[in-house]
Amino acid sequence: MPGRMKIFNRLFCLLILPGIILLLTNCTKDDSEKPGKEELIVDLTESIDSDSLEADVKWLQAMGTRFALAENHKTVADAIKKRFLLMGYRNAASDSFLIRKTYRNVAYEQWQYNVYAFIRGVEYPDSLCIVGGHYDNAVIAGDPFAVVPGANDNASGTAAVLEIARVMKKMNFRPKSTIVFIAFGAEELGLWGSHDFAADPEGFSGKIRFMLNNDMIACEPDEDSASWYVNIIDYENSHSLRAEAEIICSRFTSLAFRNDNTYNKQSDSYPFFTNGYKALFFFSDVVDPNIHTLNDVAANCNFEYCREIVKLSCALLVDKN
Ligand SMILES: [Zn+2]
Repeated sequence: MPGRMKIFNRLFCLLILPGIILLLTNCTKDDSEKPGKEELIVDLTESIDSDSLEADVKWLQAMGTRFALAENHKTVADAIKKRFLLMGYRNAASDSFLIRKTYRNVAYEQWQYNVYAFIRGVEYPDSLCIVGGHYDNAVIAGDPFAVVPGANDNASGTAAVLEIARVMKKMNFRPKSTIVFIAFGAEELGLWGSHDFAADPEGFSGKIRFMLNNDMIACEPDEDSASWYVNIIDYENSHSLRAEAEIICSRFTSLAFRNDNTYNKQSDSYPFFTNGYKALFFFSDVVDPNIHTLNDVAANCNFEYCREIVKLSCALLVDKN
């Protein structure tokens, strides 16, 4: 039926073909405008700022003491919560837990606080990726109730959490799973905050996918970045996550990496492991001569080095989402 074919051909050329071309053009355009994972990681990690990390460490150091048993411990937690709120995290909250502790022959029973904020996952909101670091500290010599600068241990890890939260908010990052930014309380008294959260992540339903811990990540006396490395500490159930972190480390930071698990029970990642979750602990692993002394100050930290470890945490979170 040649007559009908002619009409069909004309219709096809005039109406259907332009529609198909338009559709194809739009598809290609959308795909090319959507940043790939690699591009997204570069965008986010390039926004991690050493000046911002330094400012946060100095801000925490200027609080006088962040010793968990000191009277100001709620004020410190409130200040961190306020920082999350000011970044635009309206879900910022404090999660309280009770500790019983005898310290220098005095028995304490008091409430302590983990402080968190989160970005809800768009595909798997009940699946939690946690990035954390403790904000409390102690000194051995001296009066911890009066002055504890705690810059490397662990204002640096708290600053990491705040900085990743800042850049993800600024870039409007939309993860597949929920990302929880958390500053843990009372770590120095026995990992109390992380024990509490890992056993019962109050305020969150769902399951923890993995946890990334940042503790003492700014001690690197060597100015030559060619010799910098990070210790990626893992656990029996997180070898594969460490392997992924090593690839990310090589691709997106200037750090070499190694694995020495000597201290894997001595920070906030450990309770996540004992509760059955995959966890990694990023640690500068340089013997810090100032640990738990009044000399653990920002002036003794290397914030360019710290930035590289924060990039590693951030890049891994984006890569897994
Ligand atoms: Zn610490």
